[in-house]
Amino acid sequence: MALDRTVGLDLGGTKLASGVVDPEGSVIWSDQVSSKGYSQEAVIDLLADGIERARSEAPDADHIGVGIPATIDFARGRAISTVNLGLEDLPVRDLLEERTGATVWLDNDGNLAMLAEAVHGAAKGARDAVTLTIGTGIGGGIWLDGKIYRGSTGAGAELGHMVVDFDGPPCQGNCPGRGCVETLASGTAIAREGSEAALANPDSVLGEMIGKSGELTAEQVHRAAVEGDEVAIGVIETAGRYLGAALVSLVNLFEPEVVVVGGGAMAMGELLLGPARQEVRDRALKPMRETPVMPAVLGPDAGMIGAATLARIEAEGRG
Ligand SMILES: [Zn+2]
Repeated sequence: MALDRTVGLDLGGTKLASGVVDPEGSVIWSDQVSSKGYSQEAVIDLLADGIERARSEAPDADHIGVGIPATIDFARGRAISTVNLGLEDLPVRDLLEERTGATVWLDNDGNLAMLAEAVHGAAKGARDAVTLTIGTGIGGGIWLDGKIYRGSTGAGAELGHMVVDFDGPPCQGNCPGRGCVETLASGTAIAREGSEAALANPDSVLGEMIGKSGELTAEQVHRAAVEGDEVAIGVIETAGRYLGAALVSLVNLFEPEVVVVGGGAMAMGELLLGPARQEVRDRALKPMRETPVMPAVLGPDAGMIGAATLARIEAEGRG
């Protein structure tokens, strides 16, 4: 069955993106609403409303993909556990199908951003690829032999929780780990390390920036680095090297054709990606050290495009 248009939803910690997407991955219609502070019941209302808005634009689109930042039981369509949204073993797929009458697939947002890049983006044409999405946390996905690798129940490929420093900082949310790459290379990590470096170097641009608030954002650290502040550049470089350490393990394990790095932190571009690439060149095995590390090309729509792409692949029976 070849489908014309499918619907994709991408639920994040602060916003829900809904969209109608064509077979080439082009977004025909989309919108965004706030998702901050919603209860478990309200999240289902929010998602059902997002589906209805998209279907009012494309009434023929009754195959829906939904990405959420959670560990997922893919076969049963359940969200098992989330860091930001307070969902706990919730049958999201069944609740949405009851509410909307559409056919729904549920997956992890990192898997779906990866799927979008693998089918329509920077890894297009590759049979094996790895994607990391760096924002507040780090998500990721593994494209193995032309399919999403999900593990035995669908909770797999939590690449942000690869340990790159055994005694490193405690991880975020419900992860009991320490030194996960998410704690050392995410936007949150850059903000934390940048704030510490600012307080230790009061005469730097970063030191002046921190002022009375005592806390910097990752964007501020980036801005200081662009202004040439060595302290800020050092903070981002260190994060990039930790990112690189994770990439070394990933390329050694999977020998992908390409590694794609996306997410909000990629606004930092080569400041972050350059040191990561260098680690891969210096520390990965041969021939994996030659693996190209590319910026994502689909930007903030990747998760939504990936969700719509999942619905298409599953409905067409290629999944
Ligand atoms: Zn972790």
